[in-house]
Amino acid sequence: MAINQKSYDYGAAKSSIREIAAYGARRREEIGAENVFDFSIGNPSIPAPDEVRESIEQSLKLPPVQLHGYTPAAGLPFVREAVANSLNEQFGTSYQADDLYMTCGAAASLSISFNAVVNPGDEVIVIAPYFPEYRVWIETAGATCVEVMANEDTFQIDIPNLRAAINRRTKAIVINSPNNPVGSIYSKENLEEAAAVIHEAEERFGSSIYLISDDPYRKITYGAEVPWVPSIYDRTIVCYSYSKSLSLPGERIGWVLVPDTNPDHDDLVVAIAGSGRKLGFVCAPAIFQRVVADCVGMPSDVEAYAKNRKALTEGLSKLGYEYIEPQGAFYLWVKALEPDANAFCEKAKSVELLPVASDSFGCKGWVRVGYCVSYETIVNSMAAWEKLANMYK
Ligand code: PLP
Repeated sequence: MAINQKSYDYGAAKSSIREIAAYGARRREEIGAENVFDFSIGNPSIPAPDEVRESIEQSLKLPPVQLHGYTPAAGLPFVREAVANSLNEQFGTSYQADDLYMTCGAAASLSISFNAVVNPGDEVIVIAPYFPEYRVWIETAGATCVEVMANEDTFQIDIPNLRAAINRRTKAIVINSPNNPVGSIYSKENLEEAAAVIHEAEERFGSSIYLISDDPYRKITYGAEVPWVPSIYDRTIVCYSYSKSLSLPGERIGWVLVPDTNPDHDDLVVAIAGSGRKLGFVCAPAIFQRVVADCVGMPSDVEAYAKNRKALTEGLSKLGYEYIEPQGAFYLWVKALEPDANAFCEKAKSVELLPVASDSFGCKGWVRVGYCVSYETIVNSMAAWEKLANMYK
C-alpha cells in the first residue's frame, strides 16, 4: 500500500467506545431515544457553566484580527499565567506561565508528552484498566505500550506488578486518577509506594522515568481527595483538559504542565514545545484559551453526576450486580455476569443497554457504565438491567 499502513490500521480498527456510541445513535433513530440506554461515551451531560458563555461574549467584543489571530505556539501568556496562579493557590506551588503549554485537550497533552520523552525502543507503562487511546498515542510516539494490571480488589496501582514490569527500557508511566474506566482515585500512600518503586528502579538502571499524570477528571470527585502527583514524585508531567471539568469536550482545550520541581524541567519545557511543533499542535483554540483564563478557578458542577451515581449504584445493587464504588469521574465499573464481557454486552444490547466491555480497557470480565447521561436514562434503564440479570438466573 502506498499510504501509511499504521495509520490505515488505526483508522480501520476504530475506537470500540465510539463504535458503540455510533450504534446507540442508529438505535435511537430506529426505536426512539427513550428506548435506548446508551452508557458508552464519556460526553458530559451537564451544560458548560454560564461563565463560559459570558467569556465567549466578552471575547467577541475584541477586534476580530486580534481575537482570531495566531497566539504564541504555547498559548497566550496571560492565560498560562492564570492557570499557573490557580494551581499555585490550590497546591501551594510556584509555577509560572512558561511551565505550561496550552493544548487541544488531553489527547494532545498526552501525545505531546509521549513524543517529548520517548525514543525508539522505549517502553511506556499504563495501569490497566486504562483509557484505550493511550496505546495509540504511545505507539505512534515510537514506544511500546506495556500494560500493568491494577490491584483487582481495590483498583489501586498494584505495587508488586509495577515493580516487576519496570526495566531499563521503561521511560514513562501513565497514571489517571480519578480513573477512567473505574472511577478509583489513587491514595497518597499508594502513589508514595509507586514513587518509591520508580525511584528504586531509576537507581538500579541509572535511568530517568517520567510519571505522566493524566488528570482530566481531577475536579469530578465525590468527596475523596485527589493527591497532587508532582508533590509525590519529582519527574512528573501533568496533562489536563477542560473537556470534563467545564463540559467542553468539543472545544478541544487543555494544557501540559512541566512542574518547576521536575529535575529535567528546562529540557522538558523545550521538548514539550518541540513535540507540539512536530505534531502540529500549536496555538490551541484562541477563544477557548481566553475562556480558560476566565473560568480557571471554577469548581465542576458534580451534583448531577452525584445524583446519577447514587441512582445507578443503588439500582444495580438491588438487582444483585457487583461494582466498584466510584470515588470520581463519571463511570461505574460493573462485574459482567459471565466471564466474557463481550458476550455479556451482546446480551445487554438485546435489551437496549449499551455499556462498554472491559476488554477495550485491557482487562476481562467487567463493563464500564458511563453515567454522564440524563437522570431519566438511569432510572428508566433499571427494567432493562433487571431483564439482563434475569437472563443469568
Ligand atoms: N484521558 C482520559 C482518561 C479520558 O477519559 C479522555 C477522554 O475521555 C482523554 C484523556 C481525552 O480527553 P480530551 O477530550 O480532553 O482530549
